[in-house]
Amino acid sequence: MRITNQREIILEELRRLRTHPTADELYEVVKRRLPRISIATVYRNLERMSEAGIIHKLENGGRQKRFDGDNRPHSHVFCIRCGRISDVRTVEGASARDLILDSKGFQIIEGGLQFEGVCPSCQDNEKLEAN
Ligand SMILES: [Zn+2]
Ligand SMILES: [Zn+2]
Repeated sequence: MRITNQREIILEELRRLRTHPTADELYEVVKRRLPRISIATVYRNLERMSEAGIIHKLENGGRQKRFDGDNRPHSHVFCIRCGRISDVRTVEGASARDLILDSKGFQIIEGGLQFEGVCPSCQDNEKLEAN
């Protein structure tokens, strides 16, 4: 696959962001370097790169798709409150419990290849609301 300069910049920004951005979020960042780029171009490049296995597309229920520039094998934990996604490193031979311990402070509600939970900042907000 021929890498265009536009695509290179999209990929570079996606890899730099560790937040698993939506196409819209990535567009906002890429636009700073490519002021004339359109959201449709960003979206099309993301779709092509995920079809080619260069990046990952994360389907998250009914929410907006998110993209991940890190193509090393790993799992994800989704916050059911704010939709934030963190990486969960999968280590060969690791138990589900080890993975949960490595899940960045998330409170795990459901496990699988993808985890769902409540992220630390949503947990803090809930504590504040409870007081
Ligand atoms: Zn959250
Ligand atoms: Zn990831």
